[in-house]
Amino acid sequence: MADTLLQLANHPFSAPLVRALGLPQPKVLRRSQGTFLSKELAGRATLLLAAPGGLAEAACRAALTDLGAQAATTGPLHALVIDLTGLASVDDLNYLHGTARAAIGQLASSARVLLLASADAQGVEAAACARAVEGFTRALAKEVGRRGATANLLYLPAEVASSAANLTGALAFFCSDRSAYVSGQALRLQPGRGMASPVQPGGAFVGKTAVVTGAAGGIGAATARRLAADGARVLCVDVPQAQAALSSLAAELKGQALALDITAPDAGAKLVAATTTTTTTATTTATTTATATTTATTTTTTTTTTTTTTTTAATSGIDILIHNAGITRDRTLQRMSDAEWHSVMNVNLRAVINIDRALDAAGALNANAREVCLASISGIAGNAGQTNYSASKAALIGHVQARSVALQARGITVNAVAPGFIETAMTGRMPMMIREAGRRLNALSQGGQPGDVAEAIAFLARGDASGVSGQTLRVCGQSLLGA
Ligand code: NAD
Repeated sequence: MADTLLQLANHPFSAPLVRALGLPQPKVLRRSQGTFLSKELAGRATLLLAAPGGLAEAACRAALTDLGAQAATTGPLHALVIDLTGLASVDDLNYLHGTARAAIGQLASSARVLLLASADAQGVEAAACARAVEGFTRALAKEVGRRGATANLLYLPAEVASSAANLTGALAFFCSDRSAYVSGQALRLQPGRGMASPVQPGGAFVGKTAVVTGAAGGIGAATARRLAADGARVLCVDVPQAQAALSSLAAELKGQALALDITAPDAGAKLVAATTTTTTTATTTATTTATATTTATTTTTTTTTTTTTTTTAATSGIDILIHNAGITRDRTLQRMSDAEWHSVMNVNLRAVINIDRALDAAGALNANAREVCLASISGIAGNAGQTNYSASKAALIGHVQARSVALQARGITVNAVAPGFIETAMTGRMPMMIREAGRRLNALSQGGQPGDVAEAIAFLARGDASGVSGQTLRVCGQSLLGA
């Protein structure tokens, strides 16, 4: 659905009228297109600042150089990275009002600010200062959002702060146009394990098998396209009623379509069957005949040896699992029918848990796999008329926290993405006034695109995002709901 205000505010003839009426003036956001690049930040004027005692400066500099960022000292800046891992006292916070403020004044429109704070600050005052950075980031994000820019925060333990390899994937995402609709967020990086190089020839997901549920449209289709663009083989799953759209997407992506209601009792088994090569046992029998002749007695002995070789075809399994399918059945609690309650719980939550159980029982998730669940800001803030939906989406946030611990030993990460207002069929069905409010109640004064969510999912699916697990990344333009 077209965002008329966004168009009017960015047209030279109508922009003055939008201003005069005091309406929000959303900026057209710059977004990244296409596959990951090894030099993801090439050509981006980037300034790296470090407050005294910062632990991440050297690693950040190395990672930014690897990503091709163009070191800048003055504006206009496309990206500004501020290492605040060394903050120890309230006085140290003055750095934000001094050096950092001067640099923030030089941001280009659609710029990225990324702040780094300590995740293991020693002592009460240092811990308070690390948390101050989060408040600062959220407030700054609301200020720079008017220019289409974003500000986000990474909490780093000391061992992560000193390793460029641990920082590269996160810097590539948060300093590039791929995070256009992610703002005011704080993410924790843990030491990574099973890290793969960020980009291989042909794409970051070459050789990977991905499953995307609810892939026939909206965020699911954008995600399937995004993963396939970087080389993944995608199994696109959706209800049988969506077969036409599903088949055409699978054909476009040279992937596979699976018409499947994820609430079916055998849904997990069907996903296992579709992603693992049927184990075939081929038996080859070779017969060797040896003949020995004893000359003295003129006796001939013939020995026949039969050798049986068994070959078992290798299973491919799942490397990237995106639990995207979801529905809404909105009504206030007192009026909500049993069917409205149960259908939302069954699709949004029970199906995810059941499928995960089936995949675990079959060992279908490969080592170092990536799993992402689609939560929602409704699951964080709660929405009137959505007790069923909010509960199901909050449950997914709990699900990924617990599951990430259970799967950690195999290098598997489990995260959630919580979209805000995204322009899809789901939000297109909202009453007009509610839709308009949903679009504007965020720091960027506009809705996100399905591709914005797909980029966040792709970031979490990368090999070098192994340090992010059990977390929920909001893709909501810093929605005011549950901020
Ligand atoms: P959408 O309605 O456009 O697409 C959802 C897809 O899931 C559809 O293709 C649908 O057929 C499929 N689906 C529904 N039930 C299914 C089932 N039982 N089995 C298999 N497939 C099923 O929705 P969207 O806006 O693209 O949302 C995708 C996900 O993101 C959902 O989980 C949604 O809750 C979440 N989300 C969306 C927004 C938003 O603003 N659009 C905001 C927050 C969260």
